[in-house]
Amino acid sequence: MAAGFGPAAGPDRGSSLNPSLTKRGIDMMSFDGRVAIITGAGGGLGRTHALALAARGARVVVNDLGGDIHGTGGSPTPAMEVVAEIEAAGGEAVANGANVADADQVEAMVAAAIERWGRVDILVNNAGILRDKSFVNMTAEEFDAVLDVHLKGAFNTSKAAWPHMREQSYGRIVNTTSSSGLYGNFGQANYSAAKMALVGLMNTLALEGAKYNIRVNCLAPAAGTRMTEGLIPDEAFGLLSPESVTVGLVWLVSEEAPTRFILGAGGGAFARTYVMETAGIALEGSDLTPEGLAARLSDLQSTDGATEPTQGAEQTMKLAQLAMNLKEQP
Ligand code: NAD
Repeated sequence: MAAGFGPAAGPDRGSSLNPSLTKRGIDMMSFDGRVAIITGAGGGLGRTHALALAARGARVVVNDLGGDIHGTGGSPTPAMEVVAEIEAAGGEAVANGANVADADQVEAMVAAAIERWGRVDILVNNAGILRDKSFVNMTAEEFDAVLDVHLKGAFNTSKAAWPHMREQSYGRIVNTTSSSGLYGNFGQANYSAAKMALVGLMNTLALEGAKYNIRVNCLAPAAGTRMTEGLIPDEAFGLLSPESVTVGLVWLVSEEAPTRFILGAGGGAFARTYVMETAGIALEGSDLTPEGLAARLSDLQSTDGATEPTQGAEQTMKLAQLAMNLKEQP
């Protein structure tokens, strides 16, 4: 790793990109020898992700189409500028202008990374656009455009990198989700649907990747970038730095990464989102009616004994068990 661009060595040198962890007895997260592809890395969060991983030794593909916030236009300049920043600090990176929504371009990007560096260890699906409209005014084109970049883009990159990750028994993938998807946001039906779909993609890829040491997680950022300019109040904009979010991203793609973890990150604050299911109830006979169900709502909704299913089949088995328990009651 290049001198002067790595993690801080002492307690006084820590910055948000270079957290000083050894003082707390935690091993420094190194990415020496790792190859990372970060989509949409010409600015905003992707840029700070790229800088941080390069600072810790990764060789980085800085992908960006270089369009405006709506995905219109295109220029190689933003990605090339990030590569120049990395190189100036002694790191290794290459710019790539693939449109993540185009499977052929993505395939070629992954092939070029393999050709150049022999592997792909880390994939950060970060590229994104907005086409905000209230649902009543949203066109099918506006819905598709957002799904194409966020969801299909993450499918294309993951699909291209997956066989290599499997073969080398190592992979770290992060999908960038959003509070808009997890909880909803007025005017963002397309974006919310795409961002929650990325959680679904994570759920199953985490299961299918487990035996190959491929770990798949989601990052839900809150950051002052061009995407949130005018949306985040001025006083919070500066506080919610992309660098502070990148701290979470680096952990999510590290060797010690969890899998199937939804990490909220903003301004140095972090939270985990769970998809939980309540313990549930079972009805039978004359109670097995819509009215009977409505009468038991407080039991149904009680969070006592709620669990986080590790895969879909767990829900099926649980419901079957609840029904069986009821039948067995005298
Ligand atoms: P940003 O606009 O600065 O970054 C997005 C980048 O993606 C841009 O550089 C853009 O050129 C690139 N891009 C767009 N379409 C592309 C395509 N088809 N192929 C390749 N690159 C493409 O915004 P940001 O805030 O840094 O957003 C990064 C990610 O974080 C996005 O997925 C966004 O939805 C998500 N996010 C951001 C926030 C936030 O608070 N900033 C909150 C939730 C989610």
